[in-house]
Amino acid sequence: MIDRDAIVAAAEGEVRFDEPLRAHTTFRIGGPVDALAWPTGVGGVQRLCALAHARGWPCRALGHGSNLLVRDGGVRGLLVATTRLRRLERDRERGVRCEAGVPTSRLLHEATSWELGGVEFLVGVPGTVGGGLVMNAGTSLGELKDVTVEVTTVRPDGELRVRAAAACGFRYRGSDLGDGIVVAARFELRPGVRAAIVARIAAQREARARREPHGVPTAGSFFKNPPGDFAGRLLEQAGLKGRRLGGAEVSWVHANWIVNRADATAADVLGLMQVCQEAVATKFGVTLEPEVHIVGEAGREEAA
Ligand SMILES: Cc1cc2nc3c(=O)[nH]c(=O)nc-3n(C[C@H](O)[C@H](O)[C@H](O)COP(=O)(O)OP(=O)(O)OC[C@H]3O[C@@H](n4cnc5c(N)ncnc54)[C@H](O)[C@@H]3O)c2cc1C
Repeated sequence: MIDRDAIVAAAEGEVRFDEPLRAHTTFRIGGPVDALAWPTGVGGVQRLCALAHARGWPCRALGHGSNLLVRDGGVRGLLVATTRLRRLERDRERGVRCEAGVPTSRLLHEATSWELGGVEFLVGVPGTVGGGLVMNAGTSLGELKDVTVEVTTVRPDGELRVRAAAACGFRYRGSDLGDGIVVAARFELRPGVRAAIVARIAAQREARARREPHGVPTAGSFFKNPPGDFAGRLLEQAGLKGRRLGGAEVSWVHANWIVNRADATAADVLGLMQVCQEAVATKFGVTLEPEVHIVGEAGREEAA
């Protein structure tokens, strides 16, 4: 059982209890979390982690919720939202220092205004810098690990830890940074000409617009690409485009995007995930691993 007063005192920011997470994920799906806190400084994150650690409550971070499927039973314990950690500043000639809650779109925008390139791959990738680092977000054009110099996390006991990029365990759509809460990072970018950076951004925006669905609740690519292949290709060849389960649907536009068509539950999405995995395993002998992080407890529908 969480101690509401202690959480409010530690957070020094907004806190909501029993907050439905469908309001905080791009999938628009998810049961309630016991406590959701928005600290406005790194100190608040440290106090919240230390408190949860001392009391034995589960504690994890929430960024923009763009790579999360929260199950219908919700999340027990404490979620620390980083979206109010928003400082961003230039650091000498090519460096940018950034707090974890800065949207990746803002990092891209500011870097371009300073004539710094190297993060154009972030076009169309929603989310925060912290979530992006944990996921090593990117595309075929680059990943956050390519520009990261160092990352600061808050450890579960509340202490700060600074790691060089080489010690972050970056890999394809993952890292070791989820062992704490990312609060800040330093990036090293490439000086460039603004017009050329803007042209690369426009080209990528156009390419994405052609091949991705728009305006539907989703978490983007649902599965990781297996080595040497594309999850979207396998799913399309297995005839899954348009497959529907409850309110969840495999997009007609891109087979690796599961979309929330009509008040989908997490149980719908998980059921559809299984249908996709079984079809691809049967046809190609390939096991698809979810890229989306699945968190929380089963709801009544899933448990049944
Ligand atoms: C329309 C759409 C398009 C997308 N396109 C791409 C793409 O091209 N490439 C790509 O890589 N991804 C893509 N994604 C997925 C998503 O945008 C990225 O994974 C993004 O980096 C997630 O950031 P977030 O802040 O939303 O993280 P969240 O979804 O909030 O969290 C993701 C995971 O990281 C953890 N986490 C979040 N913040 C922190 C933190 N500060 N410290 C420690 N742990 C943390 C969470 O607990 C969770 O486990 C897309 C998603 C959508 C909706």
